[in-house]
Amino acid sequence: MSDSVLRIRNLQTQFRTDEGIVRAVDDVSLRVKPGEIVCIVGESGCGKSITALSVMGLVEEPAGQIAGGVIEFEGQDLLQLSKHHLRAIRGNEISMIFQEPMSSLNPVLTIGEQLTEPLMVHGGLNRKAASKRALELINEVGISRPEQIVRSYPHELSGGMLQRIMIAIAISCQPKLLIADEPTTALDVTIQAQILDTLRRLRDDTGMSILLITHDLGVVAEMADYVIVMYSGKVVEEGDVVELFEHPRHPYTQGLLRSKPVIHQRKESLYSIPGYVPNPLELKESCYFHERCEHCMDICRNQQPPLRELDNGQKTACWLYEQEVAAHV
Ligand code: SF4
Repeated sequence: MSDSVLRIRNLQTQFRTDEGIVRAVDDVSLRVKPGEIVCIVGESGCGKSITALSVMGLVEEPAGQIAGGVIEFEGQDLLQLSKHHLRAIRGNEISMIFQEPMSSLNPVLTIGEQLTEPLMVHGGLNRKAASKRALELINEVGISRPEQIVRSYPHELSGGMLQRIMIAIAISCQPKLLIADEPTTALDVTIQAQILDTLRRLRDDTGMSILLITHDLGVVAEMADYVIVMYSGKVVEEGDVVELFEHPRHPYTQGLLRSKPVIHQRKESLYSIPGYVPNPLELKESCYFHERCEHCMDICRNQQPPLRELDNGQKTACWLYEQEVAAHV
């Protein structure tokens, strides 16, 4: 049996635009083990959501296309499956929740109708059994009065409740992998904490794996077992969450952590990484972070650093650590 639920190797996802090809995901590899929570973190446009959409087979063609790589779910290459077969896996074994629950739910159907449909279509339950299970699922995601909720329409519920309903729909067929794309971004901090709690509890109870996409390091610290940092379509650093937070190696990761507010530390202003993310149409053979990096060297402007493993098992793509890599190898 495979030791990974999800394994991505050298994924390349591109978009054709009038100005040229955008390499939104450029040679990304990662894996998610059973019961593990892996967080992909990075700024908007770094490729984290496109990585998730690629796994789900939701990259919009013809402008978007997966130009290379392998996406294995329990050893099966999803990119080689027929649309029919992929649809069966999506929903049954891999589910996804998005940032905006309101735009993912159908406004003219009740919550009950939207919860029972996947249970009947994917789960093979009859209407009576699906209705019973829908009530249980609403309870499981921490909403009281499920009998009333199933009769409600989305506009009658708060953002936090809607996101829990999305989680209930996503877990209704007991997926082995849940992909959550910024699931708490639109919510206030109290509700955010409750949703994260719900996700963690479900992972503990069911053993499902979670691939969590976020720009929020607070969410990462709270949830992740393993962290992947992306920048301009590439993985620039990855490692165990404790190690990565205590010993960030890549200057971008260090900048992200410096810009995080810390309780009890009063500062005049929060640190922000200088400069801007490069235009994806103008990327050249170089470290894509070099224009913002205070440690930039000549080699950084002309050669792309490969992602290499360091002596503590962490991986980083930065020329600063070449000696450490050489010693390790
Ligand atoms: Fe900075 Fe060079 Fe490392 Fe890029 S490779 S992060 S420019 S030191």
